[in-house]
Amino acid sequence: MKTVIEFLKKALLLDLLEGLWITFRHQHPKNIYTEQYPITRPAIAERYRGAPRLNIHPVTNETLCIACDLCKIACPENLIVVGFVRDEKKRKQLTTFTYDLSRCMFCGLCEDACPVDALELTQDFELASYTRGGQIWDRQMLEEGPRPTEYRQ
Ligand code: SF4
Ligand code: SF4
Repeated sequence: MKTVIEFLKKALLLDLLEGLWITFRHQHPKNIYTEQYPITRPAIAERYRGAPRLNIHPVTNETLCIACDLCKIACPENLIVVGFVRDEKKRKQLTTFTYDLSRCMFCGLCEDACPVDALELTQDFELASYTRGGQIWDRQMLEEGPRPTEYRQ
């Protein structure tokens, strides 16, 4: 009897039909989840660490960075270069800030080391560029942040 049932299942392609049924059952639009990026931007995890930002004071527009070098010292990849001059009171004034994104592992140690919250790893995730040079961000880029293309439907 069991052999007859097995034969009928094979002859009528029941296994194939069952597989097709399972496949088509999941083709209903309510079961399909496709992110419509870049038109709809995805939600980023709260603790995601992405593009670096060098913060400026919201009122004075002056950099918050005091050129202390602590981020540079904290970085295991040694990819941050801080340039400064001394003013008449012998205080450091930031001149340049270079950040090589291509070597960054987004560990956040530089951000944690900053005593004045000047350096921050933001939730911006679009870091691709067409050249290696595009991965080296200067002070202006770090202060202004990336400007990804905005797409509209
Ligand atoms: S996130 Fe980590 S690897 Fe990247 S610059 Fe900061 S300390 Fe260096
Ligand atoms: S640790 Fe902060 S204040 Fe010091 S150089 Fe880095 S970004 Fe500037």
